[in-house]
Amino acid sequence: MEIASVIVDVPAKQTDRAFDYLIPEQWRGTIQPGMRVIVPFGPRHIQGFVVELKTDSDVNKLREIIEPMDLKPVLNDELLELGTWLTEKTLCFKIFAYQVMLPAALKAKYEKKVRLANRGAVIELPSKLQAFFENDGELDWDEALKMGIVPLLQREAANGHLEVVYVVKERVRKKHRKFVRPSVNLNQLKEAVETIPANAEKQRQVLQFFAENYHEVELKTLADELKTSGSTIKALVEKNLLIEFDKEVYRDPYGHRTFERTKPLLLTDSQQQAIGPVLRSIEQDQHEVFLLYGVTGSGKTEIYLQSIQEVIEKGQEAIVLVPEIALTPQMVNRFKGRFGDLVAVLHSGLSAGEKYDEWRKIQRKEVKVVVGARSAIFAPFENIGIIIIDEEHETSYKQEEMPRYHARDVAIERAKTYNCPVVLGSATPSLESFARAQKKVYQLLSLPSRMNNQKLPSVEIIDMREELREGNRSMFSRKLFEMLKDRLEKKQQSVLFLNKRGHSSFIMCRDCGYVVNCPNCDISLTYHRVNEQMKCHYCGYESYVPNNCPECNSEYIRYFGTGTQKVEEELGKILPEARVIRMDVDTTGRKGAHERLLNDFKDGKADILLGTQMIAKGLDFPNITLVGVLSADTMLHLPDFRASEKTFQLLTQVSGRAGRHQLPGEVVIQTYTPEHYSIELAARQDYDLFYQREMLIRKLHHYPPFYYLALITVSHENLLQVVSATEKMVNFVRSKVSDKAVVLGPAASSIPRINNRYRYQCLIKYKREPYLGKTLKTILDQYQKDAKSGLLVSIDVNPVILM
Ligand code: ADP
Ligand code: ZN
Ligand code: ZN
Repeated sequence: MEIASVIVDVPAKQTDRAFDYLIPEQWRGTIQPGMRVIVPFGPRHIQGFVVELKTDSDVNKLREIIEPMDLKPVLNDELLELGTWLTEKTLCFKIFAYQVMLPAALKAKYEKKVRLANRGAVIELPSKLQAFFENDGELDWDEALKMGIVPLLQREAANGHLEVVYVVKERVRKKHRKFVRPSVNLNQLKEAVETIPANAEKQRQVLQFFAENYHEVELKTLADELKTSGSTIKALVEKNLLIEFDKEVYRDPYGHRTFERTKPLLLTDSQQQAIGPVLRSIEQDQHEVFLLYGVTGSGKTEIYLQSIQEVIEKGQEAIVLVPEIALTPQMVNRFKGRFGDLVAVLHSGLSAGEKYDEWRKIQRKEVKVVVGARSAIFAPFENIGIIIIDEEHETSYKQEEMPRYHARDVAIERAKTYNCPVVLGSATPSLESFARAQKKVYQLLSLPSRMNNQKLPSVEIIDMREELREGNRSMFSRKLFEMLKDRLEKKQQSVLFLNKRGHSSFIMCRDCGYVVNCPNCDISLTYHRVNEQMKCHYCGYESYVPNNCPECNSEYIRYFGTGTQKVEEELGKILPEARVIRMDVDTTGRKGAHERLLNDFKDGKADILLGTQMIAKGLDFPNITLVGVLSADTMLHLPDFRASEKTFQLLTQVSGRAGRHQLPGEVVIQTYTPEHYSIELAARQDYDLFYQREMLIRKLHHYPPFYYLALITVSHENLLQVVSATEKMVNFVRSKVSDKAVVLGPAASSIPRINNRYRYQCLIKYKREPYLGKTLKTILDQYQKDAKSGLLVSIDVNPVILM
């Protein structure tokens, strides 16, 4: 086995295959599939993944691997195979499939260096350069730039004297700290305490400390606790009583905190019924997908915890996915509280180094559970017993760049390999999942009520058009204002929710709720501040913002959208005595800010928590008795067939924040379209009816879950080229699919131009097209070959966002 097949870090059509390399003698038997290696590629040195070992190759003259980057594989056999699957399903380059499975820290970093072309050769270089290259020295490209000697270098490179090389570097280092431990046995140590000179009091204290704590201690801890200086320790090291040494430590983002341990709760009858089939599936090593459908507060998390308990007892491992914004300290507490150090946490708030360390805990099998956002689905466990996806309807489980995977699909694929269950949990399942449960592809488990049968909060819809008609121009309805005041007097807390994702700027009449739609497409026109225009992102229709509402002639027709900052200002005017915490991207940017703000709110340091969707999840404080949604409509008018579903999910989610404990909760939803079914049904928390209504619409318009989608997006600086290329693709796809498929396009993307590149798309709706994958791959191959033309083509199979 002296040949290794390597997937190289060059994401391009021509290099999207394994290349064979010879393994140098000294590494035969060491280099294994799943390891990262440095290989020569053209004139460069780059990173690659070994995917296979073999004894012969079709290629005659093989180049040698330069060196391995790992001591043991970073990808196990299962993940290597999963990479192939991912490549086929998402039509991505193989290198992307492997890179996405690893923490960013393991992605190669390249440094550009200049060195002698013939190392060891004696060459006459300009005197200015001579010194850099003596004894085979190398020069950093960045340094050369700073010194302004690049032209000189280029001349010598053209002569063939110098060459430019790319050196592969690791991104993060393992972290080391200084530790101290006794170097003599306990008796000798005690003796030393007695015999140390009286004038060395500090040294005596340190020895005394080690006599009482006979084990290694981090130097810093020692310094902090005993107020010793480095010289005291040094003196003791010189006396051969202590040893100082370096030790690798994990950057543990939660290390400084202790988690109060919790015990499994006695399950209620309905919890017991729900968990039964999951436990059976774990016990019998049977793959099955469960949809755990239960309102917020119905005890889903407790079911996750107890299922994981079972998995751990069986000697297996668990992956828990939580949407990024729901991965709050509270959520982490619940898992760390139950399983302590057996839990690793992966989310974007961690530094690259911290993520790498958490990942290594998983790789070294030091933990049994990983709780993390989307990419944690690739945790390198090798004996998975359950995969749980909480809030399974969340769109953040879909990655919007290559590889465009959905964590749910990856979860099911891995669970099939390990013969274990997948549990999808939600109060508002995605239509896709609920439909699958209806068809018995997934097994439906329901938790019909909240713990202790707490009532769901009462929800009131406020018609903001009415408010305006009666002269209230504030963003707060009179009702909401009264209730906020009432809570302030009662010293209870309120949450105000502003939907910013629906920041898409549409034009709406504040008198009658009329939204300006495209005459051809039945989709809202998007407002463009520059030159005050409205545009249709589907057909390109344009028009100026009207001065009066075409429906009721009111002049209050305008661009819609408010920022949290503005709401905060207005709150300050109408309720000056209220203490407000604002949570949005601006106030939570710094590390730990999110947690600190939430803690402040929990500790009663504020009366009102004002925020964007980042507060819609996970908040579970006893003193919250009022939730206000300032404008429920913003998301409804996004140019997206899932707009109603998302609105429904979000409103249900937000409403669930109130009255989760003893105090009853109330919810106020302000809207300009109170009659819209997604708002009305969210207020009634009636998922089942919403599902039925929405399914009818999806069926009518050939959308998922009745049809699958595939989206081809084409971009180019030249509009004509984009249109004609997209047209060709549309025709090609049409010629290859059955007449049951719907092929739409070419049409401008919702975002028709990014970075001066025009974007067009082709949308394919289909039920069963066995050759579609191949057809799409052909398109990619054709156009990636053609990269010189400047055309960029991306294909999203099962897109979540159609922009
Ligand atoms: P969900 O995940 O569906 O929102 P949780 O699991 O968070 O629901 O449960 C809501 C609340 O009820 C939590 O405070 C939880 O500790 C509590 N709880 C859950 N199960 C039980 C049980 N069997 N007995 C007592 N309390 C429970
Ligand atoms: Zn109007
Ligand atoms: Zn249109």
